[in-house]
Amino acid sequence: MKNQRICPKCNGSDIVIVDGYCGPYGTGNNIMTGATIFSSARVDRYICCSCGYSEEWINREDIEKVKGSKKSHR
Ligand SMILES: [Zn+2]
Repeated sequence: MKNQRICPKCNGSDIVIVDGYCGPYGTGNNIMTGATIFSSARVDRYICCSCGYSEEWINREDIEKVKGSKKSHR
């Protein structure tokens, strides 16, 4: 969905993207990995306008923050 812009559920191609955002006090679509917004990982959301399915992708450069976070586990 991120690369093809085609919905895996309904094959629709009407995809919109809501960019991840780190606002004050953890607002926006992100994962807080520490105490401040500098340690939060932005999450981009891909939404199919045909069926409403949404997919979430962490910013590549923020993946290390999530990996090192106490909030994540395997
Ligand atoms: Zn769809």
